[in-house]
Amino acid sequence: MGQTIVKRHIINIRKGDNVRVMTGRDAGKSGRVLSVNSRKNTVIVEHANMIKRHTRPNPSKNIKGGIVEKEAPINVSNVMIVCSSCGKHARIGHNVLSDGSKVRGCKRCGTTLEK
Ligand SMILES: [Zn+2]
Repeated sequence: MGQTIVKRHIINIRKGDNVRVMTGRDAGKSGRVLSVNSRKNTVIVEHANMIKRHTRPNPSKNIKGGIVEKEAPINVSNVMIVCSSCGKHARIGHNVLSDGSKVRGCKRCGTTLEK
């Protein structure tokens, strides 16, 4: 590629975004981002990367024992945002608005992703 890869710690993905899982067991699956962990660089995607968790019954907290399915965190590098305009997963660029502020935009079609 010949490009210098700059390691950034800024996550372009926000809560509520529609993303597609690019690698792993759930590759190709898409869903809404439920939460972002910027410290760990992970996101929780609705119905993706489900793990089974065994819970013990705790009658005092009214918790029934059994197997609970729960979303596990996915590294942000393994998901890509799905553009609501072109419907494809896309890299994020920055659009500069007329007032000079920068917003996230689809690199594929240029549509601003901010509502
Ligand atoms: Zn687009």
